[in-house]
Amino acid sequence: MISDTIAAIATGIAGTGAISIIRVSGTEAIDIVNKIFKGKNLITQESHTIHYGRIICPETCVIIDEVLVMLMRRPRSFTTEDVVEINCHGGAFVTQQILELILTFGARHAYAGEFSKRAFLNGRIDLTKAEAIMDIIEAKSSHALNLAIGSLDGKVTKLINELRQDILNIIAHIEVNIDYPEYDDVEIMTNDTLLPKSLAVREKMRKLLQTAKTGQLLKNGIKTAIIGRPNVGKSSLLNQLMREEKAIVTNIAGTTRDTVEGFVNIGGLTLNLIDTAGIRQTTDVIELIGVEKSKKILENAELILLVLDSSELLTAEDTELLKLTENKNRIIILNKSDLNQKISTSNLSSFVSTSMIDNSGITQLENDI
Ligand code: GDP
Repeated sequence: MISDTIAAIATGIAGTGAISIIRVSGTEAIDIVNKIFKGKNLITQESHTIHYGRIICPETCVIIDEVLVMLMRRPRSFTTEDVVEINCHGGAFVTQQILELILTFGARHAYAGEFSKRAFLNGRIDLTKAEAIMDIIEAKSSHALNLAIGSLDGKVTKLINELRQDILNIIAHIEVNIDYPEYDDVEIMTNDTLLPKSLAVREKMRKLLQTAKTGQLLKNGIKTAIIGRPNVGKSSLLNQLMREEKAIVTNIAGTTRDTVEGFVNIGGLTLNLIDTAGIRQTTDVIELIGVEKSKKILENAELILLVLDSSELLTAEDTELLKLTENKNRIIILNKSDLNQKISTSNLSSFVSTSMIDNSGITQLENDI
């Protein structure tokens, strides 16, 4: 049993909003808040009730804020301990003042994630659910959010429990065979009967791991590199996808010196877009850094958008990039379709034509992605 009482600001600490919530959890939680609360006596109130009142400094009798206090008695709370949540006004200063008052009266400042840790240690949630809570907070797309909600709902736990049960059944059968060889009503376990069962478990695990990989992609975003030689329209494409002017668009070859990153939501998926300086041999020192970075990014990218200028013939550099990305997950984009076409497409198996000037092909590209 964890005995000390912890407190922290539960809402975001960075900005100001209409309300902030200060959460207090532990054996002294109700006592401590009751000492600084002017309203009903919280000690005699029922669990899962909300009370209007004021937070005051008992020593100076100064009113700090008008609040709503939520009471959740153990074990029916997130941490399974007594929990009090104070809804105060959302200013950073007032919230901090209330928290400090609570700390003065005997609570300890919670470490990051300590409420979830307590919920875990007290058996209220398992690790997959603790992780799901973080995933919900950090979700950047509807797919990622759905996934996290499913986890919190116990879907992952259920799958793992089923696997565990399958393995326990196999082990139990083996042990019965070893311990009671004289019983003839026990099914005899041989390699022939054990192997299919074990393989079935392995197959289930393989599938689960595979979905985990997709889950990671949905959660973290798909690392997408936009590559191409200078001036083909990479920055324009990035801007188009992000619909904001984040990369510097210019017609001087090689001006995208560094990489630009941004998250973009396409059909509920998160793409972690990375714009790269054109991959090419160069003597320019600043650009060299960009080029080296590009090659590294290419190695780590999960999806590559290779941009070619369709108004020009394929250059040696284009061919090099086509070769470099041959075995990767890539989409070839023939940009500048608004201009006269010079590029030969006979050697390209599949591509999408776009123009950043009249926005054509963007929907097609988004679908392909
Ligand atoms: P990057 O060096 O590959 O990032 O290329 P930029 O996005 O900076 O574009 C280089 C130049 O090509 C700029 O002047 C853009 O306005 C122009 N550009 C980009 N896309 C298109 C397009 O689809 N059609 C035409 N005509 N010009 C484009």
